[in-house]
Amino acid sequence: MRMLLAGNWKMHGLKASLAEIRALGRALADEPTPGHVLVCPPATLIVEAVKAAEGSSIAIGGQDCHAQAFGAFTGDISAEMLRDAGATAVIVGHSERRQYHGESNATVAVKTKAARRAGLHPILCVGETEGERWAGQAIKVVTSQLRASIAPEVEAADLAVAYEPVWAIGTGKTPTSDEIAQMHEAVRAALVGRFGSEAALVRVLYGGSVKPENAASIFAIANVDGALIGGASLKAADFLAIIRAAPRR
Ligand code: PEP
Repeated sequence: MRMLLAGNWKMHGLKASLAEIRALGRALADEPTPGHVLVCPPATLIVEAVKAAEGSSIAIGGQDCHAQAFGAFTGDISAEMLRDAGATAVIVGHSERRQYHGESNATVAVKTKAARRAGLHPILCVGETEGERWAGQAIKVVTSQLRASIAPEVEAADLAVAYEPVWAIGTGKTPTSDEIAQMHEAVRAALVGRFGSEAALVRVLYGGSVKPENAASIFAIANVDGALIGGASLKAADFLAIIRAAPRR
């Protein structure tokens, strides 16, 4: 399975930032891409980002979607709207959505369903807090989040899961290789529980302070099928270095 290298720009990026997508596209044109490359800019930039990525191997995604296709939900954006703008994937259940917007596993599950309804690939985020890890609860928390955050309509081939320890996001801290391996094995086992043999089709990404310096060692860990990258995806040069660190599979 080819790796997925997904950039999450969060609430960063103005029109000038599209130059990073163009630069990344130009650089990737000159080399075989080791995996699928996805950039998830703010919703305001999706249409232009799709144009900036035209002719390159870069796909464009959203960072969140509403459960409904349309309706009186001021300020929200539906999966169908993201699709209409040219997105092919959407991040759901990011810990910043869970923390700042009170999203529960049930809310996230209906968003995975909405993504599939609109023909988008959901990238489902799960991860424990620092307190939960210290309490020895990390695997229990993450696997129960996982089980409760996937709608029955979602098929394995459509889904990617991003294991993102909350305490590693934007902090420069990362779990040890053993901790990542243990968690990814547990995630894979939970996916087998949900999808049976089809679970092998689900990419399990690691996210949390992935940088050019640590990417290769993270990609070498068993059951790591790519990365969800925040800060380091904002600059084409850094994102490119991470993409180049991915093994060709
Ligand atoms: C993220 O936003 O999903 C993330 C992993 O951020 P960072 O790479 O900056 O830690």
